[in-house]
Amino acid sequence: MATKPEILISESVIHTRVRELAEQISKDYSGKDELVLLGVLKGSFIFLADLSRALTIPRTIEFIAVSSYEHGSVPSGAVRLVMDVRGSIEGRHVLIVEDIVDTGQTLHYLIDMLKSRNPASIRTCALLHKAHMTTAEVDIDYLGFSIGDEWVVGYGLDYMEQNRTLPYIGIVHPDDRN
Ligand code: 5GP
Repeated sequence: MATKPEILISESVIHTRVRELAEQISKDYSGKDELVLLGVLKGSFIFLADLSRALTIPRTIEFIAVSSYEHGSVPSGAVRLVMDVRGSIEGRHVLIVEDIVDTGQTLHYLIDMLKSRNPASIRTCALLHKAHMTTAEVDIDYLGFSIGDEWVVGYGLDYMEQNRTLPYIGIVHPDDRN
C-alpha cells in the first residue's frame, strides 16, 4: 500500500497564507463591482472555499473545468475544456482561481478564452507555482507558494483522484505512485 504523502506545506501555513491573499485581494478590489471568483475544477475547490470565505468584498462563485493531464501525472499536451462557466462574464471583474500552475498552459488557455468574452478585468490567483517548469507566458497576480518539481497532493489536489481531502500539501514520491 502507498505510504502517506510527506508534508510539504502544513495546514496552519496554508491557512495563514490564504488569509493574507484574501486580505490583499479584498483591498485591491474594494470599491469595485462584485468580483467573480472563477474556480478551475477540480483541484481548486478547497482553496476557493477558504479564499472566498476570507474575502471582505462582494463576490460570486463560478466554476470551469479543464483537463490537461489525462493519465495521472503524465502530461497529455493540449488543454481541453470540460465544463464552461454558467453565467456571462461580460463587463465583470474575473479572478481565475487555480490550484497549481506547472507549465502554465492551462492558465494561458483560460486567459485567452475568457478575454474574448470581454470581462471588465481578468486576473489570476494560484495557490502553488512550479516556477522553473513554466514555459507558457503567464502572470500570476496572487500567488500562495512557489514549489519545486514534485507531484503534490492534498488541499484539493490529487494523484489519480486520491488524497484530495488531505488538510496539508504533501509530496507523492515516484515510488508511491502505483
Ligand atoms: P499546467 O497547464 O500549468 O502545466 O498544469 C496545470 C494543471 O496541472 C493543474 O491545474 C493541475 O491540475 C495539474 N498539476 C500540475 N502539477 C501538479 C501536481 O504537482 N499535483 C497535482 N495534483 N496536479 C498538478
